[in-house]
Amino acid sequence: VARCVIQSNDLVAYENLRIKNLVKNHCLAKSINDAGWYQFRKWLEYFGVKFGRITVAVNPAYTSQECSNCGAVVKKSLSTRTHVCECGFEMDRDWNAAINILKLALSTVGHTGTWILDPNALGDSTSTQVGEILSEQVGSVNKESPHF
Ligand SMILES: [Zn+2]
Repeated sequence: VARCVIQSNDLVAYENLRIKNLVKNHCLAKSINDAGWYQFRKWLEYFGVKFGRITVAVNPAYTSQECSNCGAVVKKSLSTRTHVCECGFEMDRDWNAAINILKLALSTVGHTGTWILDPNALGDSTSTQVGEILSEQVGSVNKESPHF
């Protein structure tokens, strides 16, 4: 799935979630561990380097709370599944967050398009946040495995 996502897109953006902290929340722990988020992210970043696609981990602050239409902060609990803003904008909460995540990522990379993450930092908690895109050429990584 990670390879498919990478190959179908020029840029893939996701929240730089601290999975270890989320798992401490017992209500969320099981589903997060089941979903293998950490491993999925590692694969995304691996294929991003391999196929020369941009992967950006954005700061997760306010991605769910902010209105992707007008920028207002609309507080909601995790059980509120729909984003409803005073500006009249209404959307599934995850779609609204996804738009915010994409906007953040695009504002980071601008038009450069040739910058990719440092492959030595794949999936680490020290991984790239907004504003600290690292450059590294794809070359050496592409030789790594003909199996993918
Ligand atoms: Zn709004």
